[in-house]
Amino acid sequence: MAASSLTTSSVLFTRSTAARKSFSSYSSSSSFPGINSVPRKFNIRATTSPAPTVSPTTTTSVGVDASPASATPSKPLPFRVGHGFDLHRLEPGYPLIIGGINVPHERGCEAHSDGDVLLHCVVDAILGALGLPDIGQIFPDSDPKWKGCDSSVFIKESVRLMHEAGYDIGNLDATLILQRPKLSPHKEAIKANLSALLGVDPSVVNIKAKTHEKVDSLGENRSIAAHTVVLLMKK
Ligand SMILES: [Zn+2]
Repeated sequence: MAASSLTTSSVLFTRSTAARKSFSSYSSSSSFPGINSVPRKFNIRATTSPAPTVSPTTTTSVGVDASPASATPSKPLPFRVGHGFDLHRLEPGYPLIIGGINVPHERGCEAHSDGDVLLHCVVDAILGALGLPDIGQIFPDSDPKWKGCDSSVFIKESVRLMHEAGYDIGNLDATLILQRPKLSPHKEAIKANLSALLGVDPSVVNIKAKTHEKVDSLGENRSIAAHTVVLLMKK
């Protein structure tokens, strides 16, 4: 769709269409859709459910450019901002992995990959800043090769794409939302690991955590969510 047509007339986007695009089709540095057209001014991604656990058959009317390669290139920007969001159900019998750190808890994330809500939303923030498809499109849950995958793989690929597009991370601010457990004892480890994965100084990474005041699934220890905002700077 045209860069400025953020209206209800946006092209219907079907997840199953994107899911059919295997990661291998995106992994070539020369063929990644949108990588040569990164400087689109607007980027809207569907967030029907936590990627990459979304059903590949889910259809949404929220506009997503189903063919990023056709987007019209525009002038490179000195800065690009991206936002990521993710949510996972918490279920007994699964490990709770946050930022690559195993946080002791009686519940964990049921997901196709390791269910790392923080790393997933950081990936989406970086991809969003670059104007690229979201994590669910690049690493579709229909592909068995991502089953049980360590989410650091997704981070490393998003960082590779970022450098390939000519950007570095300026700073990153993330907020985790969960009722339990307390994250304060783990924040520094999470921050250090995320910084290492991103290849940046820990001083540009900020991790915050909030409860959900016992309201709704987040507040009832039945889910965990995260938001991330990232600023990319042209090299
Ligand atoms: Zn996720």
